Amino acid sequence: MPELPEVEVVRAGLERHVVGATIVAVEVLHPRPVRRHPTGAAGFAAELTGRRLVGARRRGKYLWLPLDSGDAVMAHLGMSGQLLVQRPTAPYERHLRIRMVLEGSDDGTELRFVDQRMFGGLSVSAGGAELPPEIGHIARDPLDPLFDDAELVRRVRRSSSGIKRILLNQSVVSGVGNIYADEALWRARLHGERPGNRLTATQVRELLGHVRDVMNDALAQGGTSFDALYVNVNGESGYFDRSLHAYGREDEPCERCGTPMRRVAFMNRSSYFCPACQPVPRRRAAARSVGTTPAAPTTG
Ligand SMILES: [Zn+2]
Repeated sequence: MPELPEVEVVRAGLERHVVGATIVAVEVLHPRPVRRHPTGAAGFAAELTGRRLVGARRRGKYLWLPLDSGDAVMAHLGMSGQLLVQRPTAPYERHLRIRMVLEGSDDGTELRFVDQRMFGGLSVSAGGAELPPEIGHIARDPLDPLFDDAELVRRVRRSSSGIKRILLNQSVVSGVGNIYADEALWRARLHGERPGNRLTATQVRELLGHVRDVMNDALAQGGTSFDALYVNVNGESGYFDRSLHAYGREDEPCERCGTPMRRVAFMNRSSYFCPACQPVPRRRAAARSVGTTPAAPTTG
């Protein structure tokens, strides 16, 4: 599952390579990725043909390409979706689902949607150029210049949910996925089950700063991957693996204190943390901590 930095890398690549181009032909090779379109593959192709791409925008992990018609093409990357900018002569990818032939930017390119598992797809959002109504409920992400830090502090401190669960709530703050939440919590020395209403405003602000640092580090590392005429996202690009301090490091020594890192189940995924630097909160009413087991005391 791609996280915000990967999606931002794709957005920036699209901005560089396809904005300003006109869609001169659309070929849908499999109906499933356009299943959200009410008039099917033929209607999808007809609505886009002749339209000009006037931007590449993002909110959280959601990506859209505004059109000169005021509508937008929304990309749902799902688990395995990729957007590639290719030469028309490039051989078809094995899981190529949709081709858009472009004219007028980066001479003779195609925007290709490749998706092996097809949980993702493309759709046309009517009137969605500025902000597709389908994602109107998604909060701004911490890298958005208009993100409201004070409002986040207020919302966290009003909530009795665990702080990790709050970070993953896309209506509170968008774009923070499981991996980056674990990394930011490790840097902030906070356990993900710490209830929001037991954090100080300073702790929340510091955590937000760590979230931004983690995202910016990932962006800096991914920044070179779209220099070529090739835009790619699949969540497995690996560029952020090198800098992970928490995620995926079960039983490895904490890089700060040497205590073996622990893994616990969390919302059908995993949470990784240092039991010494990020002590498990003590509380009786643990009804909200679904699927989480308390960590045993560990000696370093
Ligand atoms: Zn530690």
